[in-house]
Amino acid sequence: MAKLNRIVVVGASLAGLRAVQALRAADFAGDITLIGAENHAPYNRPPLSKSVLNGDDDISLPGAEQLAGDWLRNRRATALRTDDRLVVLDDGSEATFDGLVVATGASPRRFAAQPAGVHSLRTVDDALALRTELAAEPAHVTVIGGGFIGSEVASTARQQGISVTLVDAGSHPMVATLGSHGAQWLARHHARHGVDLISGVRALGFDGGSRATAVLLSDGRRIPTDVVVAGTGVEPNTDWLRGSGLKLDNGVVCTSSLFAEGESSIVAAGDVARWSHPLFDGELVRVEHWANANEQGALAVRNLLAGPAQAETYAAVPSFATHIHGARIQVAGLPALADTERVLIDESDEDRLVVTFASHGILVGAVAVNAPKDLIRLKRAIAARTSSKEVTD
Ligand SMILES: Cc1cc2nc3c(=O)[nH]c(=O)nc-3n(C[C@H](O)[C@H](O)[C@H](O)COP(=O)(O)OP(=O)(O)OC[C@H]3O[C@@H](n4cnc5c(N)ncnc54)[C@H](O)[C@@H]3O)c2cc1C
Repeated sequence: MAKLNRIVVVGASLAGLRAVQALRAADFAGDITLIGAENHAPYNRPPLSKSVLNGDDDISLPGAEQLAGDWLRNRRATALRTDDRLVVLDDGSEATFDGLVVATGASPRRFAAQPAGVHSLRTVDDALALRTELAAEPAHVTVIGGGFIGSEVASTARQQGISVTLVDAGSHPMVATLGSHGAQWLARHHARHGVDLISGVRALGFDGGSRATAVLLSDGRRIPTDVVVAGTGVEPNTDWLRGSGLKLDNGVVCTSSLFAEGESSIVAAGDVARWSHPLFDGELVRVEHWANANEQGALAVRNLLAGPAQAETYAAVPSFATHIHGARIQVAGLPALADTERVLIDESDEDRLVVTFASHGILVGAVAVNAPKDLIRLKRAIAARTSSKEVTD
């Protein structure tokens, strides 16, 4: 493996920061250029849909202080010229590299016309804008999309005493992530906490001209509202890589050790990476979880320095945790890959639920509500590719 002298990291958030820290930890003596489109130092996103909306400003990301301003902020990569080994920036300048880390994350899907009063939630600026609107005590908020972020916002708004409608296109919110039992539990949980849940219906647009005053639904209904939150999922930030020769398909397609397919000096990490997961028969997966970006940023760099022949695969069990209306919901593995699901515990009166997911008889996922010890046990069982028959309550 040729010695690397100049490494460029594109994307200055969690995965990009961990990449830079790993370079320093490895005593990398060459040049490091970190390029970030935001005008903020790297920060923590999970609080944006939770504590920040309740007035807490702590979004600090441990390690961000080590950058000490030594990076390009408010600067966007617009193209990658793979043959010339350079990244083109939005001010026309170029950054040459002999090793590249792609850590550009993901951006929210937006409505074609998104008038004032309709909020997406990805950045600290998005969160502060939404917080200001919620602080004005709106009579009614409509959340479009019942995924984690939409459900968290619905929960926070209810906590603040605001009337909430949650519109979700699926049969139940988060059915792909939580499976059918988990999603049915979540629907009941939202209802018990006063959320007016409308499932199986799409939001098509808005009434009200320059500021949305109502949400228009695919079944013809019109929901008058003061504030709208669009939580309709994200798309990986790969536009700048079009035409670069990198394989793009719902993210940067990577090997099991995070090298962009066909490349030996370009790696990807975090929400933008779609890699061949060793635990799930090499299935290409893209994971939008904090722990994934946190670990992949560092591993991608270690692999870049070591070269593909010495590289380590990334085989961690994906995992995610959140609180919605006071219940702790945890997911391990990838329930979406399952052909069967089995309820191990369902104690409705205590809001305790444990569901396992298997593919061809092998455990691939678990969902736990208020059952953290079960989740730890099941996560280990997923990592060990345990037969679902061996898993009992
Ligand atoms: C509101 C919210 C709540 C969340 N809650 C949880 C949670 O509870 N638990 C959990 O596990 N995960 C949660 N997540 C997900 C988690 O925050 C992400 O998985 C994580 O931030 C991914 O990190 P990343 O570095 O890969 O990408 P990102 O954090 O998306 O960062 C990518 C960075 O690259 C920059 N960029 C993009 N394109 C370019 C370009 N062309 N040039 C230069 N820079 C560019 C972007 O501006 C951004 O700063 C949440 C996310 C959000 C938005």
